[in-house]
Amino acid sequence: MRLRGSCHCGKIAYSLDEEPPTEAIECNCSICRRKGSLLAAFAPDNFHLETPRDDIAVYTFGKQAIRHQFCKTCGCTPFAEGTGPDGEAMVVLNLRCADNLDPSAIKVTQFDGASL
Ligand SMILES: [Zn+2]
Repeated sequence: MRLRGSCHCGKIAYSLDEEPPTEAIECNCSICRRKGSLLAAFAPDNFHLETPRDDIAVYTFGKQAIRHQFCKTCGCTPFAEGTGPDGEAMVVLNLRCADNLDPSAIKVTQFDGASL
């Protein structure tokens, strides 16, 4: 079963060439604590955006390492793109926007992003 996700209005939708994850990170950095995201990172090659980028707005701050994507219509934040600590490109999914996954069934690990 491939993981699928979307924003609330459906103008952003994606699929992933991987099974839905069983673990996620909850980060306490300045943006994640505001959004309440549950995060999991994947290789960009496995991520398929199925909707036009025209409907996506991008927010960056600080080191500009992560491009936080959000829907221009409904404001949801299904994913972000950027560079991981190891220099590799990554896609970070907000699992709260996943369609075929129960966030309450995921093992959540706290991540101290505020200290980076
Ligand atoms: Zn939307």
